[in-house]
Amino acid sequence: MIQTDIIIIGAGPVGLFTVFEAGLLKLRCHLIDSLPVPGGQLTEIYPKKPIYDIPGFPIVNAGDLIDNLMKQIEVFKPQFTLGESAVSLEETPENHFIVTTNKGTKHQAPVVIIAGGLGVFEPRKPPIENLADFEDKGVEYIIRDPKFYQDKRVVISGGGDSALDWTIYLVENKIASEVSLVHRRTSFRGHLDSVQKVMDMANDGRIKLITDAEVVGLSGNGKLHSVTIRHTTMGDIVKEADHFVPLFGLTPSLGPIADWGLEIEKNAVKVNTFDYSTNRKGVFAVGDINTYPGKLKLILCGFHEGTLAVQSAFAKIYPNKKNVLKYTTVNGVNGF
Ligand SMILES: Cc1cc2nc3c(=O)[nH]c(=O)nc-3n(C[C@H](O)[C@H](O)[C@H](O)COP(=O)(O)OP(=O)(O)OC[C@H]3O[C@@H](n4cnc5c(N)ncnc54)[C@H](O)[C@@H]3O)c2cc1C
Repeated sequence: MIQTDIIIIGAGPVGLFTVFEAGLLKLRCHLIDSLPVPGGQLTEIYPKKPIYDIPGFPIVNAGDLIDNLMKQIEVFKPQFTLGESAVSLEETPENHFIVTTNKGTKHQAPVVIIAGGLGVFEPRKPPIENLADFEDKGVEYIIRDPKFYQDKRVVISGGGDSALDWTIYLVENKIASEVSLVHRRTSFRGHLDSVQKVMDMANDGRIKLITDAEVVGLSGNGKLHSVTIRHTTMGDIVKEADHFVPLFGLTPSLGPIADWGLEIEKNAVKVNTFDYSTNRKGVFAVGDINTYPGKLKLILCGFHEGTLAVQSAFAKIYPNKKNVLKYTTVNGVNGF
């Protein structure tokens, strides 16, 4: 049994920064994440994208923000259970919690902070019969490292920002040797300037834009070799490709968290904005996973929520100790 002061479910940016704020109060944290690496959506969905609304950083790449957060919390020595999903939350007679993962790892603490973001998320997949045969053999649903596509022929499918942005990125950075963008409509759902950029690239011949079409078949021998694109008027086009990347978004699901006796609204955990506590005493929810009037799913809002949640966590863990706010500029991070 792993023992700690606070179990944090979710090692996205909000879970990570919560470790820092807890550390300032001398509270130890253990994080659990179903993904094999920390970072949540930033690592999983958009590691190379620039973020412009983190206070004090005019621009920061999502992956770099996670690296910085990891560095910032190092001093507080957080522990991690990675690659395992938290599946159950039980309460002991002493009002402590036991969180068990799908692999049977047990964690015990007086406080649980759920920073589960979108929950367990699954990519939306196109209905192609033999799709699963090519997963990780040429079919990917998320672009983790663009360099993976260096000098490759890539077919991207989708009509939203991800499909547009990655098309632009792979071409502008001279990564893929050939990029084709396939979309079943003629109009796109993304930002207007991204749409314009993609159109310009198509007109200049830098990408192949195939609209009113869908990828309907895959073939290859143990590895993707070509895709079949069905055009509404032109019929089937077979295109040689090393990679097929359908970017149709992710379906978020609370997963097991929905069964923990927490008040749920709009697929999120209802919280009290005083301290982001849930209806279960000692259980808090911060970041994208929670909901309250005026909620904004932004990283900086999650940072604030985690900061307030640990104040109440401290009061539950040390009911007889007074907690006085101290500035890091006065005491540094070790002085607390
Ligand atoms: C393309 C894109 C661009 C964005 N751009 C911006 C931006 O510019 N500025 C901004 O502020 N925000 C932006 N966002 C939103 C931002 O990414 C989220 O607000 C942020 O990731 C929320 O952080 P989080 O830590 O709450 O959750 P997440 O980052 O979602 O992390 C939650 C983690 O919890 C884990 N988890 C969930 N359930 C379990 C479980 N049962 N057991 C174990 N682990 C679990 C997940 O695996 C995940 O790693 C963007 C989002 C996207 C998709």
